[in-house]
Amino acid sequence: MTTATIAPSPAAPVGDAANVRPAAPHLNFNQIANEQFQAAADHMKLDREIQLLLRTPYRELIVQIPVRMDNGSLELFHGFRVQHNAVRGPYKGGIRYHHKVDLNEVRSLAALMTWKTALVDVPFGGAKGGITCDPTNMSRKELQSLTRGFAQKIDMALGVYRDIPAPDVGTNAQVMAWIMDEYGKKHGYTPAIVTGKPVNLGGSLGRDEATGRGVMIITREACKAFGMDIKNARVAIQGFGNVGSWAARLISNLGAKIVAVSDVKGGIYAEKGLDIEKVFTHLNSTGSVVDMPGTQDVTNEELLTLNVDVLIPAALGGAITEKNVDDVKAKLVVEAANSPVTPFADEKFRSKGIRIVPDILANAGGVTVSYFEWVQNLQQFNWDLDKVNHELELRMVKAWNAVHQRHTDEKIPLRMAAYAVALAKVAEASRQRF
Ligand code: NAD
Repeated sequence: MTTATIAPSPAAPVGDAANVRPAAPHLNFNQIANEQFQAAADHMKLDREIQLLLRTPYRELIVQIPVRMDNGSLELFHGFRVQHNAVRGPYKGGIRYHHKVDLNEVRSLAALMTWKTALVDVPFGGAKGGITCDPTNMSRKELQSLTRGFAQKIDMALGVYRDIPAPDVGTNAQVMAWIMDEYGKKHGYTPAIVTGKPVNLGGSLGRDEATGRGVMIITREACKAFGMDIKNARVAIQGFGNVGSWAARLISNLGAKIVAVSDVKGGIYAEKGLDIEKVFTHLNSTGSVVDMPGTQDVTNEELLTLNVDVLIPAALGGAITEKNVDDVKAKLVVEAANSPVTPFADEKFRSKGIRIVPDILANAGGVTVSYFEWVQNLQQFNWDLDKVNHELELRMVKAWNAVHQRHTDEKIPLRMAAYAVALAKVAEASRQRF
């Protein structure tokens, strides 16, 4: 198998081991987020008062949502909205529909949003929401009822200058349209209350692909910085949903070989690289990427351990743990998903010279274009796609440069560098307000 060359790692055992405390193997998502925050706060010698303010969320809502199901029975769902921090602007964050959603996960994702919005310098804070449910087993009518019920219950916490939801795993533009419609019943026409809505209802061109486009930009910049030739790189992507599929398409357009992709049902592999447009056609006709003619089926576990240059986990958190980290062969891991690498695995990677581009940088393209959507809604003036993509490119490259600079100057891991850049902005705004 051909592999792209990689320059010797200046950061690999580079200062990294010295700067990070050993991580426990089993942590929940909130403990992981706290661990990452604390490591950066310690490194920056962030003052105690600011740490106190940033360590826990500002507000947490847990709501009960009764839904009359199609079979006539009443089911009770639980929904969460966690508002972590808003010193830099209104709370901002997606809403996840998944059977594993719980308060801890939503808390951790809300904190990641605070750091992400600061890192790409958009004037938002951080929030996240979710409902514990399995949307794949619900009808459109049931999903609409669930979404409208949730929107009513969290209405008092939302607002164009207070808290603006967006899609995440298991939700999409249609779900945002229902939230906007429900909010509008009480408050009047308010497109800026959600982002990631259909373009026809005030959504932004380029929002659908924005997170994947950001992943492509960051992967390209990381390859450049670390002496890897993206044109000859072999790439595996776990998760072929909104983020993974767009990342696959855009990274393959750069000339890289996407040798494997997967979804919840399994993955496919092609030694010479997959034709991504054909994967889309196959997915659209069968509902999954698996069993695509001319490819070899692989499991999600096997995909993570393939002989590739770049591994992009783009599904759920906790994909790479103490159980499989030793089998990963990639030289660069780009966290398109949120929290796909546990701190224990992170540490292992660094000790082996494998670089990890953290989630708060790699997947920040989505919230960046969400910001553009919000701006367009407030100004009632639409941008064309070229402007959206151009502005996204500028912000993502600027964020990459700031993180890479700090990584090199302070000889700290990319994750700690990203947190340091973000925390500095949030801390400064906190000091100015308090
Ligand atoms: P999505 O629901 O569109 O797609 C998720 C994909 O992962 C699907 O292909 C699904 O089949 C697959 N998947 C689910 N469970 C899996 C499993 N156990 N193993 C392997 N594959 C599995 O979600 P998305 O919007 O693409 O989000 C993916 C990740 O990116 C999440 O971690 C999300 O928080 C993060 N993210 C999304 C956005 C966004 O704008 N959508 C922005 C920032 C971060």
